[in-house]
Amino acid sequence: MVVAVYPGSFDPITFGHIDIITRAAAIFEKVYVAVVDTRSSKSLMFSTDERIELCKEALLNHPNVDVIPYTGLTVDLAHRLEAKVMVRGLRMGSDFDYEFELALNNQKLAPDVDTMYLMASLDHIYMKSSLIKEIAGFDGEIRHLVPNNVAVALRDKYRSRV
Ligand code: ADP
Repeated sequence: MVVAVYPGSFDPITFGHIDIITRAAAIFEKVYVAVVDTRSSKSLMFSTDERIELCKEALLNHPNVDVIPYTGLTVDLAHRLEAKVMVRGLRMGSDFDYEFELALNNQKLAPDVDTMYLMASLDHIYMKSSLIKEIAGFDGEIRHLVPNNVAVALRDKYRSRV
């Protein structure tokens, strides 16, 4: 059984993430969506519990996908889960340099774990959690970008701030 782990911040999960997860779940027997549990540098809108709940709700119809929190190095997580593959998504050129650097560093740390990149689908290439939050902040249309539960959570988050 080949297990894969898809790590990210998922703040919040978008149709772009879900597309990558759906395609990975068709390739691997088990896919762990690993939600980073951090209070550090990256300013996150949703708490770890909220991000996990939003992912779980959005992935209810994916039987071989589990959503888990994690801290620390993703390669250590991969070892704990006995995952041979780390899945990441590539949207455009600007993702490439960062992802290449990450993959090479991870390869040094854990040569037994390989990173596999799935190209973003044409319909999702422009989807980015940070931009979606910005659009939601100005009450823009986001229903084509995120599942309904996420759209509701984003609206609630902004309403509670005013
Ligand atoms: P973001 O980069 O949007 O803040 P994450 O840190 O949660 O998102 O990203 C986790 C992984 O998912 C990364 O490899 C990222 O490139 C990928 N990803 C994010 N959005 C998309 C998308 N729309 N299509 C394909 N891959 C994506």
